Amino acid sequence: MMLEIENSISDMTNSYLNLERRMSLSTKRILVTGGAGFIGSHLCERLLSDGHDVLAVDNYFTGRRDNIAHLQAHPKFEAMRHDVTMPLHVEVDQIYNLACPASPVHYQFDPVQTIKTSVMGAINMLGLAKRTRARILQASTSEVYGDPTVHPQPESYLGNVNPIGPRACYDEGKRCAETLFFDYHRQHAVRIKVARIFNTYGPRMRPDDGRVVSNFIVQALRGDDITLYGTGSQTRAFCFVDDLVEGLIRLMATDDAVTGPINLGNPQEIPVLALATRIIALTGSRSRIVTQDLPIDDPMQRCPDISQAQTVLGWTPHIGLDSGLLRTIGYFETLLAMPKVRLAAE
Ligand code: NAD
Ligand code: UDP
Repeated sequence: MMLEIENSISDMTNSYLNLERRMSLSTKRILVTGGAGFIGSHLCERLLSDGHDVLAVDNYFTGRRDNIAHLQAHPKFEAMRHDVTMPLHVEVDQIYNLACPASPVHYQFDPVQTIKTSVMGAINMLGLAKRTRARILQASTSEVYGDPTVHPQPESYLGNVNPIGPRACYDEGKRCAETLFFDYHRQHAVRIKVARIFNTYGPRMRPDDGRVVSNFIVQALRGDDITLYGTGSQTRAFCFVDDLVEGLIRLMATDDAVTGPINLGNPQEIPVLALATRIIALTGSRSRIVTQDLPIDDPMQRCPDISQAQTVLGWTPHIGLDSGLLRTIGYFETLLAMPKVRLAAE
């Protein structure tokens, strides 16, 4: 009888130890640069819910403490103010490098800092990955294709970028970051993943973000004029943030042979004018559409070819445009109903 009890205690202890070992193997220490930003905050939330330890690093240029306020009490979450143009000394298993302003208005505000963030940020984070042997994922962009002459854009398309225009600080910074990722991979065997993200939208975009979805929704909800740049015949394809985060996580989980670059985006392409009328309809707004000049080098068409993501990651976006827009409209309705003082402090 005593022996049976001892055996069953020993079985229980072993299975507990196995469980603990399995959990510690699957629980990773993950660094998210740009973790207080729009996509970064959703990614941190998802990684925490998957059981990981998450360190969000941000200089709060476009990111907001409010985006991660609900995560601060989580025992596995930590936020650190840090600029990725400076070296960072932490111990991690995985790095998602998202730090970089993404809206033309914000990345053109201080173009030199933008290109430094992409290039020096990549060097610093790749150096960290090299020392810690962490896997590292770069948030690259469809902007590496510039104003594309091939449509939709596959990863093999080399792009059509103006290297000296006002968008170049972002486009060329991201292109150089991709180069650095592949050189560190070839020269130092760093385990890299490069995601080329297409236009992504959703809750936690800033009301003053300047990108088209947030601009149109905020203008529609306030009854202000909708600012259409150019004729609105230029196209984009919009991916809801939850779908994008799922794609990033799947890419990070691939084996070391998969480096990318891999397009992540929703191939549901729409002219910008049609987006404006859709948002007016969904908000029931009485806003008028007014036209303004098309910004220099604004791409005329953009749509991802996601066949690689579908075959390599088994990933396809599921959230349609109307459904994603309604969720985003709901977010902005709540945000705009807040007192002005609180909005300003975000
Ligand atoms: P965002 O501006 O909300 O997030 C960027 C975050 O990086 C912010 O929190 C900002 O404060 C932080 N940051 C900027 N410079 C930094 C620096 N030097 N050091 C530390 N932190 C810094 O933009 P987002 O839409 O969440 O984009 C996240 C990433 O995804 C970016 O790298 C962007 O280029 C990429 N991306 C986004 C889209 C999109 O449509 N949202 C498309 C393509 C690529
Ligand atoms: N755009 C617009 N009105 C706005 C903001 C943007 O018509 O208030 C247009 C912009 O010129 C571009 C498209 O919408 O053609 C997408 O712009 P965004 O800045 O969101 O992303 P990106 O140009 O980087 O794809």
